[in-house]
Amino acid sequence: MSGIEGRVALVTGGSRGIGAAVARTLAAQGADIAINYHANREAAEAVAAEVRALGRKAGIYQADVTIEADCAAMAAAVAGDLGPVGILVNNAGVGSVSEGQPPIATMSDDQLQRLLNAHVFGPLHLCRLLMPAMRELGRGDVIMVSSVAAQGYGPRMGVYAIAKAGMEAMAYTLAKEERQHGIRVNVVAPGLVETDMGKLLMSFTRGVGDMRQLDANMPFGFVCQPEDIANAIAFLCSDEGRYITNQRLTVNGGGF
Ligand code: NAP
Repeated sequence: MSGIEGRVALVTGGSRGIGAAVARTLAAQGADIAINYHANREAAEAVAAEVRALGRKAGIYQADVTIEADCAAMAAAVAGDLGPVGILVNNAGVGSVSEGQPPIATMSDDQLQRLLNAHVFGPLHLCRLLMPAMRELGRGDVIMVSSVAAQGYGPRMGVYAIAKAGMEAMAYTLAKEERQHGIRVNVVAPGLVETDMGKLLMSFTRGVGDMRQLDANMPFGFVCQPEDIANAIAFLCSDEGRYITNQRLTVNGGGF
């Protein structure tokens, strides 16, 4: 893929799971990577070491994306260390299990607010902070990592689905507003992916502790891996995707 080399990518939640795979994949395509994490410094450092082993620069940045001041400090630090961010991957997040999957009828405002903070306000903070530099570059890519939960709207997924739907609404609006500045905004919507979050979901909803038990019933005979999502994101950020904006790419093997 072309058009990624030499750019700076900020990946939120880059310490684990999908974000870590995005960091590795974009680095392999030649980007320098700012790896954001919340609590897991050791994991972020391990991802940074992998990026450096690929010959690219890497920095790790602790920030709770739900807190605007954290995002502002991170944005300034990344710009100082690596240069202006041209690729923003809004990936950090928590799932419905973190709130016990409450049905709408009994959901509390606080439960919904926490998910909105992660999936709507976090990305909003970073888009606001980074858009001026992207405009100046005349080229930018924003990826929102959503979920098929905002297509299926299954029972007890409300806290999560409402937040992801809000995230997508922001993406499609931003895409039209920023196109004139050479900035593309796309949504990648995974189904089940083998990460800590995916494992937690499966053990909570299906009592399955080992993801290998699920392989046979998956569309291609295996549970989607973080790299499958990362490859889709890299394509959207590349020159090969230059005419694609305002789109949602669902990566779930074709059905949910
Ligand atoms: P994961 O393995 O649980 O990793 C979550 C990542 O987000 C970690 O790097 C974590 O940092 C970071 N994070 C969480 N809250 C944060 C906050 N407030 N500020 C900054 N960083 C924060 O999750 P994942 O499965 O890779 O999920 C990544 C994205 O994909 C999420 O948006 C999720 O909703 C979406 N998704 C996942 C699946 C799936 O099945 N896994 C399916 C559809 C969509 P620490 O390491 O420091 O804790």
